[in-house]
Amino acid sequence: QSFENFNLNKQLLNAVQEIGYEKPTPIQEKAIPLALAGHDILGIAQTGTGKTAAFVLPLLFKVKYAQGQHPRALILAPTRELVMQIEEAVIGFGKYTDLRYVCLYGGLGPKPQIEKVQEGVDIVIATPGRFLDLYKREVLYTRDIKTMILDEADKMLDMGFLPQIRAILEIIPVKRQNMLFSATFSDKIEKLSHEFLEFPERVEV
Ligand code: AMP
Repeated sequence: QSFENFNLNKQLLNAVQEIGYEKPTPIQEKAIPLALAGHDILGIAQTGTGKTAAFVLPLLFKVKYAQGQHPRALILAPTRELVMQIEEAVIGFGKYTDLRYVCLYGGLGPKPQIEKVQEGVDIVIATPGRFLDLYKREVLYTRDIKTMILDEADKMLDMGFLPQIRAILEIIPVKRQNMLFSATFSDKIEKLSHEFLEFPERVEV
């Protein structure tokens, strides 16, 4: 397998090549074609497996190369550190696109994040609490979000984010593509996947 076999585009393949990935990891090999085909994904994969690229590449392809008026994709992660790791992937793989993104997390004042949102963003990478905070401040327009990803969902549940995740599902469109990644599978993850995913393809490594 090689990245060229995926139905990605030149912009993304060039970025992958520059980053130096030679061939897809097993989770990428399984998840990328399913995600590009429009399926919801339940991904059971730990950190270190290449799960980030497995969702960032299809997401960038789906959001397309051009800037829009309002966010079209939302990635939720449990911690600021993880948000920043995902940001690195979005910067690297998105190098030859015009897509704009914002990272939203707590621990500092919201003003710079609010300003960035107001300049216009295509992709939001956020912890659940700060995302809801900016929504309540009427800074975030959520009606154009068509792709949503929950990364490290097991950790999000452990940290007590389920009410926030549910609140976010209430304010974004029902018709969308979803991917849930978790290092472990449990009854709680299964229950969340029923709430969040529609006819998911399960991929596991
Ligand atoms: P992740 O599981 O997403 O946290 O990725 C773990 C590490 O593997 C990161 O440093 C990635 O840059 C790296 N990585 C992901 N996919 C590949 C690949 N296909 N080839 C080489 N390195 C990769």
